[in-house]
Amino acid sequence: MLTAGRRMKTEKAKTLKIICEVCRNGCEIEAEVRDGEVLDASGNGCIKGFIYAQQKVQEMEG
Ligand code: SF4
Repeated sequence: MLTAGRRMKTEKAKTLKIICEVCRNGCEIEAEVRDGEVLDASGNGCIKGFIYAQQKVQEMEG
């Protein structure tokens, strides 16, 4: 259905560096972020790092 010319604004993806603080490994995560969502992450040693990155991005872009 067409709406009255309103469009969702979609950001370009950007890469953020986030240090995970969940454990003492302190992994440096590179998170690919768009519209406040982590699309992909690398450098995290476990899934907790992905979740941490998502939380940090939501805090920043809230
Ligand atoms: S990503 Fe996992 S291993 Fe790395 S600091 Fe976070 S919790 Fe620790």
